[in-house]
Amino acid sequence: MTQLLIQNVRLLEPASMDDRVTDILIDGETIRDIGPSLNTKGADLIDANGLWAFPGVVDIHAHLREPGQESKETIATGTRSAAAGGITTVVCMANTAPPVDSPTAIEFVLERAERTACVHVHPVGALTKGMQGKEMAPIGAMAEAGAVAISDDGCGVMDSYVMMRAMEYAAVFDMPIISHCEDHNLTANAPVNLGKMSTTLGVTGSPREAETIQTSRDLILARKTGAQLHISHVSAAETVDIIRFYKAKGVKVTADTAPHYLTLTDEATDHFNTNAKVNPPLRTLEDQEALYEGLRDGSIDCIATDHSPHTFSEKDQQMSAAPFGIIGFETLLPLMLGPIQQRCGLDPIEALGWITYKSARAINLDAGELKIGGRADLVLWNPDAENVIDAETFYSKSRNTPFNGWKLKGRVKATYVSGRRVHGDSEI
Ligand SMILES: [Zn+2]
Ligand SMILES: [Zn+2]
Repeated sequence: MTQLLIQNVRLLEPASMDDRVTDILIDGETIRDIGPSLNTKGADLIDANGLWAFPGVVDIHAHLREPGQESKETIATGTRSAAAGGITTVVCMANTAPPVDSPTAIEFVLERAERTACVHVHPVGALTKGMQGKEMAPIGAMAEAGAVAISDDGCGVMDSYVMMRAMEYAAVFDMPIISHCEDHNLTANAPVNLGKMSTTLGVTGSPREAETIQTSRDLILARKTGAQLHISHVSAAETVDIIRFYKAKGVKVTADTAPHYLTLTDEATDHFNTNAKVNPPLRTLEDQEALYEGLRDGSIDCIATDHSPHTFSEKDQQMSAAPFGIIGFETLLPLMLGPIQQRCGLDPIEALGWITYKSARAINLDAGELKIGGRADLVLWNPDAENVIDAETFYSKSRNTPFNGWKLKGRVKATYVSGRRVHGDSEI
């Protein structure tokens, strides 16, 4: 088995808060040793002086678009993009075409991933058949086939009875439910946040109550059923308050927000910029402050990209016609270890916790840690490299990012999945 010795690297291990300069020895798929001046004959050597090593990033909310929407992304291109972004585990949502709502569909995604993915892929099964919101999908059978969670992401489940029954079933199988909190009667497909920007652009606005009402309902049902609930892409201040309230009552709830809600406000949708059209919509500075407060006090557990690829022609339409969503794999780390970490006023190791072990634990995945005997999923990071975001260089099939041209710092030098290098620049 090939051995690889990474020497003099700054290790940042968020789960154990271990931050020191050390050597890391990878043996096959495993981390064999971590310590100073490891001496191993025959190992390939990397002089990592000046670089950081941390656990591979775990992204628990992404869209890989396969099956059915391969013009936007495939499992092959999506995971290549993830690897370039330092992400070694991707949880992919079920709203493909057709949706992943059966054990056969779960098996298809896993089989495709086995053959074409370069990072670990875990599929989510749909909550309702065909994602129609009416009839519950076979949750137990999908769990047995390898689904890691249940979600109708992309759609809010409007029928409270269906949601309650799904939670009861999911609880039996210890399956987390990932909730896309949206009351569609209130949003009515509105492209931007209800407020100054919807008025300025003269388009219908999407009110934050669409998110807070559904969050409240799902938390009430989670309390009743004992289900494990994960609220995804929190965007509104009051949603953070509601989650905080129910967490204090002992409800099994976790939550994430996405980097774009932490770095942009609805001002980014000005001039009908469809690359800032996301669902839920970008909101205001006040909402953003509440998200940071939620991260600091643990009301929001982690951060996920909601990587949502769309073709250029789909996004190149009027504001109301363009689809919701932006890509996020290749901008995640420079945003996290740049503007987001700085605004939080925390150390890099704490910011990394939100995209590694905390993400994994939110939905019971065994990932996101870098430890002796553990799987060798890790990132080598150059913290000093200048990084001007250029969507044309992305490995993703799509280019729909609002961060094009942003001047950030830091770059992924190499990404390892189960000890194998899946991304790296020429020097490594
Ligand atoms: Zn969603
Ligand atoms: Zn999504």
